[in-house]
Amino acid sequence: GTDVMAIEVQGLSRRFGRHLALDDVSLKVPVGGVFGLVGLNGAGKTTLIKHLIGSLRPHVGNVRIFGTSPIEDPVTVLGRIGYLTEEDSLPRWLTVRQLFEFGRSVYPTWDDEYAASLCERFQLRPNEPLGTLSKGVRARAGLLAAIAHHPDLLILDEPSSGLDPIARRDILEAIISGISDQGRTVLFSSHLLDEVARVCETVGVMSNGQLLPPETLDTIQSQYSEWIIQSNVR
Ligand code: ATP
Repeated sequence: GTDVMAIEVQGLSRRFGRHLALDDVSLKVPVGGVFGLVGLNGAGKTTLIKHLIGSLRPHVGNVRIFGTSPIEDPVTVLGRIGYLTEEDSLPRWLTVRQLFEFGRSVYPTWDDEYAASLCERFQLRPNEPLGTLSKGVRARAGLLAAIAHHPDLLILDEPSSGLDPIARRDILEAIISGISDQGRTVLFSSHLLDEVARVCETVGVMSNGQLLPPETLDTIQSQYSEWIIQSNVR
């Protein structure tokens, strides 16, 4: 239907041993726009995101991406998602050119022309193995790989850690706005509140495995020194 959500999570809980990493999380993110997920390290952001991309199977609760379960139909869901994590997970011996080949072979919607333009914009050299690049340049290669198939949902999990402040503003935030302008959806997870305040229209706060609505920000404000910036987002 027309009211299908980009992300729909219902009653998702996850336990690691005695630790409750996700505590009955429910979330609806409509199609289009930038949704911010904020919270301290260990709050549960990454665990939630791993359920969205199907790398963790829900024990309790339900996940739908554009109405489809990432467990039941991973090919459909992964084809529509672009995913970038703070972890530097691209093989060090892969070249940028090989990254293109890989993208082309995996994603029917991979756009070579767009990828080439990003390559130029990010100042990536095609024949250089990613391992010889600086952390910042590798982070740009990762971003390229996450967006060159025009994902309907771009999921960025703490993507800023590898990027210097200028790259964050000029590259990351510009890309996010561009994708959102095309009517696509971005989930942006970060603990950099100024950044979230600039790029996100809506925000959810993770705290001890629970997802709190933005109205409750005031009550946990004391956990954060820069928290006041958050009031811009509401
Ligand atoms: P970060 O910004 O550090 O990624 P986060 O909010 O994304 O923080 P998670 O990575 O989701 O937090 O972790 C939430 C909690 O669950 C943490 O206390 C973490 O130690 C724990 N945890 C996550 N994955 C596992 C696992 N596979 N086994 C045991 N504990 C885990």
